[in-house]
Amino acid sequence: MEYYSRQISRLIEELSKLPGVGAKSAQRLAFHIISRPAEEVKNLADALVSAKENVRYCSRCCTLTDSELCPICSNPKRDPGTIMVVENTRDLAAYEKTGKYEGVYHVLHGAISPMLGIGPNDIRLKELMRRLQGDVKEVIIATNSSLEGETTAMYISKLIKPTGIRVTRIASGVPVGGDLEYIDQVTLLRALEGRTEL
Ligand code: ZN
Repeated sequence: MEYYSRQISRLIEELSKLPGVGAKSAQRLAFHIISRPAEEVKNLADALVSAKENVRYCSRCCTLTDSELCPICSNPKRDPGTIMVVENTRDLAAYEKTGKYEGVYHVLHGAISPMLGIGPNDIRLKELMRRLQGDVKEVIIATNSSLEGETTAMYISKLIKPTGIRVTRIASGVPVGGDLEYIDQVTLLRALEGRTEL
């Protein structure tokens, strides 16, 4: 890319590190950004830096938020006795969009994958187990139906079973290997309503 000046090359290089952005898209984005008014570009840069500086994990459910407790954990109308376990914040958002779930969540930030060397200690499982010492009636496992998601579901259910807390798994209306975030709301609700005991 030596036919571009150093500044342009640097911008293209940084953009191409983003997921789903290939070399061509990175160039297109770079030239688009340069063509925009300075004010607009500054807002974009500010949003990036400020999100990175201020977004952190909710001290209860581990979702990404910008305060000590996320809006769901701090909402008195939500039922803290029902915890839905999801792999990431995008999956949480998918269930929130249905507007029908009244419990709270626990975000693992990953799934167990022996192939990728991701073990139980690499996801937010300890935090989940700590929450179960409170007054919890049910844990709904809503990890994806991929091999990793299923492995994680089995592992969690084995951990929780001895505590006597009800453990359920969302129904398999969710296609195998399907990411929750791409599934329509009707299917998500059906999967939740048809959940089974583990
Ligand atoms: Zn929270």
